[in-house]
Amino acid sequence: MRTRDDWAQLVTTIEPRRHAFIDGDFTDAADGEEFTTVNPATGVVLASVARGKAEDVDRAVAAARRVFSSGAWSRAAPSHRKSVLLRLAEKVREHADELALLDTLDGGKLITDTSTVDVPGSAAILQWYAEAIDKQYGEVAPTAPTDLAIVTREPLGVVGAVVPWNYPLEMAVWKLAPALAAGNSVVLKPAEESPLSVLRLAELAAEAGLPDGVLNVVPGYGDEAGQALGRHPDVDAIAFTGSTAVGKLFLRYAGESNMKQVWLECGGKSANLVFADANDLDLVAAKAVVGIFGCSGQVCSANSRLLVEEPVADELLERISARVRDLRVGDPLDPASTMGPLISAQQLDRVLGHVEAARAESTLAFGGNRLHEATGGYYVEPTAFRDVPPTAALSREEVFGPVLAISTFRDEADAVARANASEYGLAASVFTDSLQRARRVAGALHAGTVSVNTVDALDVTTPFGGVKQSGFGRDLSLHAMDKFTWLKTTWFAGPEKG
Ligand code: NAP
Ligand code: MG
Repeated sequence: MRTRDDWAQLVTTIEPRRHAFIDGDFTDAADGEEFTTVNPATGVVLASVARGKAEDVDRAVAAARRVFSSGAWSRAAPSHRKSVLLRLAEKVREHADELALLDTLDGGKLITDTSTVDVPGSAAILQWYAEAIDKQYGEVAPTAPTDLAIVTREPLGVVGAVVPWNYPLEMAVWKLAPALAAGNSVVLKPAEESPLSVLRLAELAAEAGLPDGVLNVVPGYGDEAGQALGRHPDVDAIAFTGSTAVGKLFLRYAGESNMKQVWLECGGKSANLVFADANDLDLVAAKAVVGIFGCSGQVCSANSRLLVEEPVADELLERISARVRDLRVGDPLDPASTMGPLISAQQLDRVLGHVEAARAESTLAFGGNRLHEATGGYYVEPTAFRDVPPTAALSREEVFGPVLAISTFRDEADAVARANASEYGLAASVFTDSLQRARRVAGALHAGTVSVNTVDALDVTTPFGGVKQSGFGRDLSLHAMDKFTWLKTTWFAGPEKG
């Protein structure tokens, strides 16, 4: 296994791409402006990157439209698209160390995560959609036998993908893989905090044989490049992952421009329900810890509300506290670290602000402080509050950091009511040894994914997304293709009568 020094040595060999990738080439922003991206583990600037704005988005959309209309990708045989995307998956694997390091340096993510989850996961997803695309059939409608009506799935055209920083490569691939497989052209706007890995991905896609203009990456700020994409009259759909507030902006942009389709994967305040009949409390504690402290809590489906049946609440908190004492918060390049920094100084302030507010409403169970300030990194302790009232901000608002809200419930009905008392509905977990209870509770929960006796169950084969203000539309699985295609009916009239 590699040590921190091995990884640090590899860092010296990589050279981040820092231009926009438009129509097959790296290019400066039209006005030459740049912005900086920072390493969250040190606070030090990593790279100065082209700051794309409306004019750059225009260029990217024009290239995307031109190649879409040419049919070079959009009307290529599915078997051809498959072979190019399989080559891209292979290239991601060949450059796995580099891509993992880019996400670790740029996003502060643990190298143990980026190298074992984000990058191999991205390659696997590209491969999965590549392999799926030449196995999908259209339909023949059950009309009268004299007629023939066929139903086909057509690519939309130009898709705008706007993604966050918590899984910079993988969130992008969730959108790109099905969109490209279906034959669309894509203009991708990465988060300003983490543009580097997808710039490299676009270059690898070109090497894999993706025609110029099919995949463009315009780094920049949300209210500049992101808004320009959302309002662009020649973009057919937006596939967005990010906050609920910005998701709502994309609905407005669409309404005020060309009524483009908008697909939103937004925030969450996911509940983890632990019933007293869950006998393996050690397993529950282990999963609860991963569920909120994994990725420093910066996960849309983080299990940020732990709702425990009263008789086991104290014991579970003890076991969670014991496990948290074993977490090692530190340098994401060090494989011994088990929790890294937050993404930015701004996010650190936000999270510590939530912690301060929570002190007035609830009881601090552990944590609550900034760590390793001397490193310049944005580290915070794993933190939990207990006896958090349902009305408290910590029960309702997404923190997007390592802060757990623990409270108790009386019975099953109380548990379900509390879990569903949220404007979000992304994910939920249920721990119980009763199969009947698991089925009843899972059925009653308003959440896109319910994990039973685990947390955050997720795979390329299963749809992922929310209800309520967690958004709509699904990533992953074959259902993700629905977002990137439209249904066409072609009706061949039968012989005219009389
Ligand atoms: P965010 O602020 O909503 O940003 C997401 C993306 O939107 C970024 O590329 C951002 O650009 C862009 N953006 C920001 N303001 C914009 C504007 N006015 N117009 C157009 N685009 C704009 O979210 P974030 O802070 O990066 O990520 C955290 C949020 O994402 C959390 O709420 C989390 O729950 C959610 N999330 C959801 C999922 C899911 O699958 N449901 C997965 C991961 C994260 P800038 O980077 O330049 O601001
Ligand atoms: Mg960064």
